[in-house]
This record gives sequence, structure tokens and C-alpha cells, in this order.
Amino acid sequence: MLIDAHIHADTRPYEDFEKMVISGIDAAITCAHDPLRMTTAAVVLDHFHRLLNNDIKRASANGLKLFVALGVHPRSISHNYDMVIEHLPNLLQNDLMVAIGEIGLETTSKEEINVFSKQLELADDLKTKVIVHTPRTNKKEVTETTTEIILENINPKLVLIDHVDFEIVDNLIDHDFTLGLTVQPLKMRPSDAVKLLKKYGTNKFVLNSDISSSPSDPISVPKTVHAMRMADFSEEDIKAVSKKNATNFFNLKI
Ligand SMILES: [Zn+2]
Repeated sequence: MLIDAHIHADTRPYEDFEKMVISGIDAAITCAHDPLRMTTAAVVLDHFHRLLNNDIKRASANGLKLFVALGVHPRSISHNYDMVIEHLPNLLQNDLMVAIGEIGLETTSKEEINVFSKQLELADDLKTKVIVHTPRTNKKEVTETTTEIILENINPKLVLIDHVDFEIVDNLIDHDFTLGLTVQPLKMRPSDAVKLLKKYGTNKFVLNSDISSSPSDPISVPKTVHAMRMADFSEEDIKAVSKKNATNFFNLKI
């Protein structure tokens, strides 16, 4: 039984969910993002509605249990984003919403920092987990600012920082964060994940595919598990990054 801890189900065909389940994935977390030009809060809330309804059903029809993370992504900040944030406590009443996310910074603009801080404060008040995106461009610098803002606004134990790679891991590993490894054609190969886990251990990491409309591999988590087995990781280590750490962090009922 495997968990893919960060996907974008709304961008994927029905057949991907079947492929994932056949490859051993039983559960996944689909995160809010920027599939459209998010011109108003209503568009963002309709995106949430789709994830919570259509996508949960499409996944479940293939035997995949889908959980949801909802929030204002740095690329979906509309002029009335406050309305979206106001809805989050209500949306969290749904047991399938397990985190606020993905949120974070893309360029570190003032507005992004504002939206990010507000959501972190809210999550801290509600003791809700957050999934924090780190960008591809200026990754190191942006992640440094991201970390500062997190430490000012929320208990780090509530935070999963995602898309961690060799460039940023040293600055994150000594904090109380959970760390996401995104195994995706343009980000990290299974062999890179193996290398990183050999060096830093499996305690803090969770695997994900981040399948989206960018080049993606719906079975990158099982492929990484296979690569770990070939590299002589113990079954306990494999279970930690492919299931246990995510189940514990998000308190998943599976
Ligand atoms: Zn994502």
C-alpha cells in the first residue's frame, strides 16, 4: 500500500487513477493550484468544488482514495483572494480536506508574502497542516524567504515543504518540517531520490509525483519504491517514505 502525497487530479485522465492503483497506490492527496487564470475568488472556489466532488469520484471509481488540500496558490491570487481564505475554515469541516495547500511563494512579491502569511496564520490557529510549494526559478533564494515567513507565522511541525532537492535540503533538514520529494521528469528521477534518502535518511520525507499538466509520471512513487528496494533500503525505510510519514503527518484515515 502506497500513498502519493501530492498530485493534481483535475489535470489527469481517468485512466491514470487505474494505472496508479494497479501499481500499488491506494491513496493520494490532490492539491489546489492554478489550472485556469484565477481572475476572481469564484473561479478559485469552483476549482475547489471540482477537486472535492468530481475528482474524488473519478479517483474512487478506480479504487483510489483521494484526499484534498485547498488554499490560494501563489499563481492563483485574485484581487478578492480574501474571500477564498474566509471559506477555508468551512471547507475544513470536510474530513477529506487534510491540509491547506499548496501555498507558498513563487517570486516573493509583496502580495504573495501577504497571501502566504495569512494562510499560515490561519493554519496555525486551526492547527491544520499546510503543504508549501517551492518554485523552480531562484529555488534557493525563494525557499530561504519562504522558511523565514513560516518560522514567523506557524508551528513548523504543521508544515510540509515540498519539491525539496539537493539545492535546498541542507537548509531545511534541521528544522521540524516534513519534507516532500517530488519524483517527476523535470524535477527529480527515482535514482536522485534514492541518493538523497541514502544521505539524509527516511525519517522526514514523503514521496510524491506532483502529476499535473507538466511532464509527469503517475507511477513515479512505485518506481521510486522499486529503486529503493534495488538499492537495499529496508522495508521499514521504504514504508516510511511511501506511506507511514504521510499517514502520520496528515492523520489520514485509510
Ligand atoms: Zn503541485
